[in-house]
Amino acid sequence: MKIDGRCHCGHITYEAEVDPEKVVICHCADCQTLSGSAFRTVVFTREDTFKLLSGELKVYVKTGESGNKRTQTFCPECGAPIYSGPVGPGPKVYGLRVGTVRQRDRLVPKDQYWFRSSQAWLGGLPAIHRTEKQPVFDPKGGVGR
Ligand SMILES: [Zn+2]
Ligand SMILES: [Zn+2]
Repeated sequence: MKIDGRCHCGHITYEAEVDPEKVVICHCADCQTLSGSAFRTVVFTREDTFKLLSGELKVYVKTGESGNKRTQTFCPECGAPIYSGPVGPGPKVYGLRVGTVRQRDRLVPKDQYWFRSSQAWLGGLPAIHRTEKQPVFDPKGGVGR
């Protein structure tokens, strides 16, 4: 499936080929920190199908619990994460961050990695109160409904 995407500020644009059957959620602690959220959603793509159309990616190399190093790329202007990949030579598989993909509604996760470190409240998500947009923000503090 051909997809395209962009970071929040538009500095980074790209296109790639992905397999919509290879969409996963990662609940690992690193993904929680690096995404600033409860989990990360990823679709895999091969390096040779990923084409950076504009901008230059900033690269951060993280060392995982196993000692494995992985590059994390993001927009240097707005900080939106774009993909991760292995370090070193050889053909690479990138883990594209689904939130920047324009066709993300069609990329439904098929597996959940590192489920043991997932946030316990996720299972109760459908029961948490919903607000269609967001409440009026009070700059003095306080988040009302
Ligand atoms: Zn950006
Ligand atoms: Zn992870």
